[in-house]
Amino acid sequence: MAKVTLKGVGKVYGGKVTAVKDFNLEVQDKEFLVLVGPSGCGKSTTLRMVAGLEDITEGEIYIDDKLVNDIPAKDRDIAMVFQNYALYPHMTIYNNLSFGLKLRKIPNPEIETRVKEAAAILGIQELMQRIPKELSGGQQQRAAVGRAIVRKPKVFLFDEPLSNLDAKMRVQMRLEIIKLHQRLQATMIYVTHDQVEAMTMGERIVVMKDGLTHQVATPNDLYQFPANKFVAGFIGSPPMNFLDGKIVAEGGVFHFKTEDFKVPLTPEISGRIKPYQDKEICFGIRPEHVSIVDGGGISSRVEVVESLGNETLLHLRMGKHLLLCRRFVTGEVRKVDEEVKISFEQSQMRFFDPQTEKSILN
Ligand code: ADP
Repeated sequence: MAKVTLKGVGKVYGGKVTAVKDFNLEVQDKEFLVLVGPSGCGKSTTLRMVAGLEDITEGEIYIDDKLVNDIPAKDRDIAMVFQNYALYPHMTIYNNLSFGLKLRKIPNPEIETRVKEAAAILGIQELMQRIPKELSGGQQQRAAVGRAIVRKPKVFLFDEPLSNLDAKMRVQMRLEIIKLHQRLQATMIYVTHDQVEAMTMGERIVVMKDGLTHQVATPNDLYQFPANKFVAGFIGSPPMNFLDGKIVAEGGVFHFKTEDFKVPLTPEISGRIKPYQDKEICFGIRPEHVSIVDGGGISSRVEVVESLGNETLLHLRMGKHLLLCRRFVTGEVRKVDEEVKISFEQSQMRFFDPQTEKSILN
């Protein structure tokens, strides 16, 4: 297996559209790396450059330590799985899986062994003599993955492979791909616009927007310590609450203050937030880090209750501010117009510079 290195990689289409800018990353051997971001942010372009399906406008791509910029796709020892499966419609699944190996002049007995192995891994042995249209979406996607497995490539690339499947099948295939990675111990790069898919599958995640890498981190670190407001809002569902306000010092204590409420800050936060005294700031808090308290706290009114059984989402109003609170208390009943006092979990309070949108605390 292999590592993949991108150094200052950029892509401009037709001299006009900048799809990817200065992409730097080292994908480790056996790593499961996910590229995630909204549609059009340059994920597929990055993947296709690694595959050799797009020319690189600038920078260098290495597979292991070999520069591959000028090496054609077929010689890169990479297998790609596409969103639309890209199976040959008139060939049986067996022939779909074996076709690429025949082109590479692999001996027939070896082809048979590899196809059988892949079919067993994916549980599609019974489908080998069917043609793609006789298969469900999930089965077709398995066949497409099978076609990559038989190649025994150095690197697997997945381009939104689950997007055409229904929600239930997506969850199942997600698990299958995670297990496949554990079993094959292969380097995999996976593109998706779905942050849940990214969080559940990736060992490390690259968050992209407008062709730029905004953060590269483990799912946990992305969630806990987003590098900027975009990442903070993109990762996590329901998303983080953002409130604009100011940092003020009152009675020797720093507070985050809006027209409707103010919150004292711990000395730990205060130390780092000092340069923002009397300046605008953006405060971020995840819905699960908003607590309802008995005494003290900020007054708010319940505006909407969304009850999901195991959790409840409360939309709370504080003057002109709306805030989402997520409660994991089974059986708790909250009513519209009820007054509740809330507090924020101090260790989970995040602050962002209003101009640069960068996180101030990490
Ligand atoms: P993503 O995979 O994140 O949705 P893409 O990598 O497909 O994003 O596209 C990034 C940007 O490049 C978009 O603005 C898209 O319109 C543009 N783009 C993609 N492919 C081409 C192409 N072949 N020609 C011109 N522009 C393209």
